[in-house]
Amino acid sequence: MTTDDPAARLAGVLAEIERARKLAGRPDAVQLIAVSKTHAADAIEPLIAIGQRAFGENRVQEAQAKWPALREQHPDIRLALIGQLQSNKAADAVALFDQIHSLDRPSLVAAIARAMESGKRPDCFVQVNIGDETQKGGCAVADLPALLAEARGANLPVTGLMAIPPADVEPAPYFALLAKLARDHGLAGLSMGMSSDYPTAVTLGATHVRVGSALFGARA
Ligand SMILES: *Cc1c(COP(=O)(O)O)cnc(C)c1O
Repeated sequence: MTTDDPAARLAGVLAEIERARKLAGRPDAVQLIAVSKTHAADAIEPLIAIGQRAFGENRVQEAQAKWPALREQHPDIRLALIGQLQSNKAADAVALFDQIHSLDRPSLVAAIARAMESGKRPDCFVQVNIGDETQKGGCAVADLPALLAEARGANLPVTGLMAIPPADVEPAPYFALLAKLARDHGLAGLSMGMSSDYPTAVTLGATHVRVGSALFGARA
């Protein structure tokens, strides 16, 4: 199934997204975020060369080391932070990223709001711990209304919800629940779906899928 050719991998993932989007009768677009964490520039460049422009990283420092040089050559690249964010890195994250998918607690709302006084205002997705798993990041489903109110009160550009369903179980019910929560709160963005389940996520309304290993191969 996998191939060593990045162009073939990208074409395959884009075709799967299209197939799922049409199956669901969706007229809207789905953004593919290529998750490049742990991969060096020489693995990323082939995807840029064939037109991929949205990338995701889970660590601020790693992204700071990799992306400024790549962006200098391709200023239209858009970067999403998909990993947990420490409040003391909020200013760096706001400066570097175009989207933050891991807003998950009130202290981070405050730190991001302060960082946005710079004038840079990346779109924010609130990460929800959709399976209520103790070890997982994201705000509890029960805490979502309060966190959203806080983020909106701080004038953050909150555009959607993000979640990672529990591992090794059917993800569809969790995707459906995240879609319902987004609808209930008037949010259009839905960041859900990874290499193992992005077609299902698209069928259930994902507007952003975060795909790593299906594009880059397994991580070390
Ligand atoms: C690593 C990661 C992904 C991509 O995972 P793959 O299974 O390699 O597609 C997506 N979302 C988040 C939050 C991640 O940390």
